[in-house]
Amino acid sequence: MVIRQHYILCGRRGRKVVENARKKIAKSINASNEEIYFTSCGSESDNLAIKGIMFANKLKGKHMITSKIEHPAVLNTCRWLENNGFEVTYLSVDCNGKISLKELEDSIRNDTVLISIMSANNEIGTIQPIEQIGKIAKSKGVVFHTDAVQAMGNMLLDVKKMNVDALSMSGHKLYAPKGVGALYVNSDIKFEQIQHGGHQEKNKRAGTENVPSILAIGEAVELLYSDFEEHNKKLQNLRDFFISEIESKICDVRLNGDRFDRLPGNANFSFKNVDASQLLLYLDSFGICASAGSACTAGSAEPSHVLLAIGLKEEYIQGALRVTFGIDNTIEDVKYLVDKIKCGVEKYRADNT
Ligand SMILES: *Cc1c(COP(=O)(O)O)cnc(C)c1O
Repeated sequence: MVIRQHYILCGRRGRKVVENARKKIAKSINASNEEIYFTSCGSESDNLAIKGIMFANKLKGKHMITSKIEHPAVLNTCRWLENNGFEVTYLSVDCNGKISLKELEDSIRNDTVLISIMSANNEIGTIQPIEQIGKIAKSKGVVFHTDAVQAMGNMLLDVKKMNVDALSMSGHKLYAPKGVGALYVNSDIKFEQIQHGGHQEKNKRAGTENVPSILAIGEAVELLYSDFEEHNKKLQNLRDFFISEIESKICDVRLNGDRFDRLPGNANFSFKNVDASQLLLYLDSFGICASAGSACTAGSAEPSHVLLAIGLKEEYIQGALRVTFGIDNTIEDVKYLVDKIKCGVEKYRADNT
């Protein structure tokens, strides 16, 4: 798509582009146009939802509930809130990365304002029981936010059916450019701005809109959902073929995350006694991009908080490799990948022993 900036950025045309994208995003999740707010990224959407809802509902209480395996955009926002007089409960997860609905219900207090649980995890791909969480939140009168950055485009999301009050998404996770995100907030929910300035986005997010990128995220969402079934099936086939090939051809491997409730394009394997950073360099030399544990903490020496939370042992954490398939990948790519991983694992296991 060629974007002529001077054309789409101008005055009323610019506004029309933004409103058109808003309509497409609203339609894709069964929300109203005025419930969609544009931001600069997924992290900002998470910040705006969580801080905006907690601050606007301070009279009701200062407690919120999240999980231990959220993205840092949620976890670090929660830590900041704790340093500023709020209280946060971090739910544990089972060995597949799922929260317990019982623990969630038991954690709800009279002063609980918000539950923030991701739709699907970015590292291990596990999908949470969003509809049941929404049901519990609704019955207790608690607001429910979900970080759907990974789920958007990969799962069917209906905010009314799922009782979701706020939902975050990000452009670059769904084939749009980096530097744009969006947030849905139910119009019945009280929330306030955290970035102050002009009157953009109905006084909820000050700052001039990134019009070309907003155009792109609207188009991307519409395209992904226009052939959702086909796109989803394709990614699932690539993923399932990859998983069965790895499990049948390499010993001492562990699939991290839920085998069935899992993002269509995600696979995360731990190779026992392999250093994933060596494996990554090896794969990179063949033009293969994967990540160790989590892309967001790549480069940091800290073990993944997600792999720790599912109870993975050290010898499996350091050998965790995450592979994400996209719409341009083919079965041939997967065969090539499996072949290279097998060679790499054998090489580094031999080197290490
Ligand atoms: C990538 C990601 C984010 C952050 O989105 P950015 O647009 O990169 O700021 C938040 N949550 C999840 C689950 C993600 O995967």
